[in-house]
Amino acid sequence: MKNKLIILFIALTSCSPKSDFQTIEWKSGSSKENLVVLKQVDTAFISEASLYSQNILLRQQLIRGVPVEGTYVKEISNGSNLVAVRGHIVTAEPKLKDFPIEEFLGNKSNFERRLKNSLPMFKRNSPQSVSLVIAHHKGFYQPLWKVVYVDDKGVTWEARFNNYLQIQKIQRVGSYFQDTLAWVFPKGSKKRELQEVVLTGLYASPTLANTRLMVSSQNSSKVTSVMEPLKFNSKDPRFDQVQAFYFLDDSLAWFERMLGFKIPFLLQAEVQVGFPEKTNSAFYYQGKIRLGAGDDQVYSGLAQDPSVVVHESVHAVVDSIAGLPFEGEGGSLNEGFADFFTAAQLNNPNMGEASYLKGPFRRSVVNTLSVADKNGGLYHDSGIISGVLWDLKEQFGLEKGIRLAALTLARLVPNSEFKDFGVNLHAVLQSELVNVGDLKEGQTIIQKRGF
Ligand SMILES: [Zn+2]
Repeated sequence: MKNKLIILFIALTSCSPKSDFQTIEWKSGSSKENLVVLKQVDTAFISEASLYSQNILLRQQLIRGVPVEGTYVKEISNGSNLVAVRGHIVTAEPKLKDFPIEEFLGNKSNFERRLKNSLPMFKRNSPQSVSLVIAHHKGFYQPLWKVVYVDDKGVTWEARFNNYLQIQKIQRVGSYFQDTLAWVFPKGSKKRELQEVVLTGLYASPTLANTRLMVSSQNSSKVTSVMEPLKFNSKDPRFDQVQAFYFLDDSLAWFERMLGFKIPFLLQAEVQVGFPEKTNSAFYYQGKIRLGAGDDQVYSGLAQDPSVVVHESVHAVVDSIAGLPFEGEGGSLNEGFADFFTAAQLNNPNMGEASYLKGPFRRSVVNTLSVADKNGGLYHDSGIISGVLWDLKEQFGLEKGIRLAALTLARLVPNSEFKDFGVNLHAVLQSELVNVGDLKEGQTIIQKRGF
């Protein structure tokens, strides 16, 4: 019986090589001929945003209604003028016709039931989402079930299953602030003083929310009404909820004011993640930020550290402008932009200063790293990106510095790597630094970093 199943599985799952992907790069002025191929594929809307006077539209390819992982079509336009189109799509449509997509989709509720019955963790907590994707697996793409779930510690995972409940891949997803443990002398906690502020435009329900965001808590003690003053001492679990709301709202307002950029969705956040356990969770994934209380060993008061909270909010911005991934070189680009905009916003180059217990801070955007120092470490390599952006900001001032960074980000795509970042950073300097002396200065700064 088992053998029969395997043979059936191979017969049903036809595979196609990665070489069936096609990359499209178009800039205004060049021939529209290579855009024709985009007209032949189905795409679904992912996000739309505007930055300065540019409109940024990001879409993903669909095959018979199912998203194809790793594909994208990004259109940048200025008013009604198309400025650039960058695409990465699958063009082997005839081969993909053999995918038993309707059979998979018709089987969805059955699959969900079997998932619950055979894996105890899904009995305790239902998965957050179950969806079908056409995924890369061992050099080929094929339909797989994507199951997103949160474990008991508040960590979000994504597992891939075939139709026979066999796990094909499992990975921790999202962007985390914390990472490796180290032995150092503890320095003790940093002193802060409570200050009275006004939170404006709050909804009565849901709580705690306004037009930009909503902050909830996993603690049984949470803010249930905004009719009374939200005055809690910093040890009260409700304090984290109010504090995170304050930092996040302020951060989103900063992006609106400084870049004219508004994230195109309601940002969600949750504090005291993993309660009653005190976890070091601090990450962003699919429109939602999750923050633990901190274990008081490595981190303490994560939701009370502006750099931690703002950093996670920048991931929402990066997500809607460039859709960068959370691992590999693209992941380091993502983290580099998150640290840079956090440092620029808080006027402090150090990340984790108020919460990290194993040293004065966790990371800094002040460094001398260059591309030659790249070692594959997510946050190590992100320092090259945040470092060069910070140098530009120091040279040209805050307003110009964040403009150079944001316009570079606007040109990046979900599979951008360091090389693509360098090419686009050069192009942005060319178009933004009109004074010849400034341009030379800018180019010297980025060349010193290996771009
Ligand atoms: Zn991050």
